[in-house]
Amino acid sequence: MKHEETLAPKRSFGRAPGMIAASIALATAVAGPAAAQSNDRRQWIAPGARTTEDPRRIPLKPEHAAGRDIVLHGGRFFDAVSARVRPATIVLRGNRVLAVLPPEAHEWAADAEVIELGGKTVMPGLIDMHVHLTYPDGDTPIDEQASEGAGVLRGVRNLRWMLESGFTSVRDLNGVSNAPYLLAEWSAEDSIAAPRVFTAGHIITGTGGHATERPVSPSHGPDYAWERDGADAWRGAVRQTFKQGASVIKLASHFSPDEVAAAIDEAHRLGLKVTCDCETIYIKMAVDAGIDMIEHPLPRTDATIADMARRKVASVPTLQVYQNVLDRSGGFYGSTSRRFTMTAQGDFDMFKKMKAAGIVMGVGTDTIGDANKMVPNVYIAELKWFVKGGYSIPQALQAATLTNANLLDMGDKLGSIEPGKLADIVVVDGQPDMNLDDLGHIDMVIKDGVPMVRGGQIVTPRHVPAPLLKPSPPADVR
Ligand SMILES: [Zn+2]
Repeated sequence: MKHEETLAPKRSFGRAPGMIAASIALATAVAGPAAAQSNDRRQWIAPGARTTEDPRRIPLKPEHAAGRDIVLHGGRFFDAVSARVRPATIVLRGNRVLAVLPPEAHEWAADAEVIELGGKTVMPGLIDMHVHLTYPDGDTPIDEQASEGAGVLRGVRNLRWMLESGFTSVRDLNGVSNAPYLLAEWSAEDSIAAPRVFTAGHIITGTGGHATERPVSPSHGPDYAWERDGADAWRGAVRQTFKQGASVIKLASHFSPDEVAAAIDEAHRLGLKVTCDCETIYIKMAVDAGIDMIEHPLPRTDATIADMARRKVASVPTLQVYQNVLDRSGGFYGSTSRRFTMTAQGDFDMFKKMKAAGIVMGVGTDTIGDANKMVPNVYIAELKWFVKGGYSIPQALQAATLTNANLLDMGDKLGSIEPGKLADIVVVDGQPDMNLDDLGHIDMVIKDGVPMVRGGQIVTPRHVPAPLLKPSPPADVR
């Protein structure tokens, strides 16, 4: 069938298909953390070349820029690089930041769309490093909890809520079957109103490991987690998730030293970072094997914390979700994979020890099921834990944006508003650098250069019908 050519372009949020980046002569190649790896594959890609906007960086054909520039004028600019606020004007062209101008400058194209911000705060889009967009929830009938279709629909709804809440990127660390990959692809094509989705797909664990425990719950089955035994099987599981479209690999305890080492080695060779949901001896094994980061505030020794700092292993502490667990069950999981007791003080002490050791920490919520209805309150609560643990509010916002982008291996493209970076920007009606609760007042969200939330509401250009292949018979009927 040839007629696909006549269908409307897939990018449907207001940008002509030729508008994207490459001919804009502003690509700046800021080396991300992974660039230091000797097996970093992107050394063979020309600087400034257009690629997919994910850690795989698949080279794409150049496209030509078009369309009106956007000017964000009269705002308080939160600079995620310096963690300071100053008045500035932001100019966007296509899907990139073109310039950050001092407030008195008026250097932009005559036909640009100028948006007056009236003292609102303009900052990089928020990033949540740990979500579960497709997990079962209380609204889903029991017989649909594990279905991929219901997972996709939950994901579309949850992504809409996150976009409205100021998130322009989320990292999905496990979901049902290939639903997370589909959501990532549809978001990348701008076919759904959603933040960028970076996804791990299936969790990889040993037989009986975390996320496969009995009694089986809807999210503890083979549609969510792969049980593998032996180093070759772990290497194969990494390749399988890569094949499906993973942009990060998620491991979970339990495993053997050779299994975790094989998985990390394979992922790094493929150009992907690895994170781990694990505890106690398994954190030590993962750190020894060269893991990139560890999720959660679970128990580990002081020696392991020192090793994390020395080997530059990051942390996504997810304190608030563990507070939720404590509030609900008092710290007893009743789980074969979680054979330790947990206390609020113990979790917080782990955070403080990691901060004191100089470990880089990202912000993630581990939002599961009905907790998606608490977005962005869970995220604001997580930021407040960071502040309680010694961050200033601007430093917490820096972690929420630039640090998170670096942990995604996207720090050269996301996380701050700088010339050449992707235009993922939010406008907050308030001063979130003074009061984190102001993050609950999102006025505008721009993703990939396209305003997708205006006045706090999602806006999507209406559907433009494609013409019929031939005039519809009978041609004389009107
Ligand atoms: Zn999780």
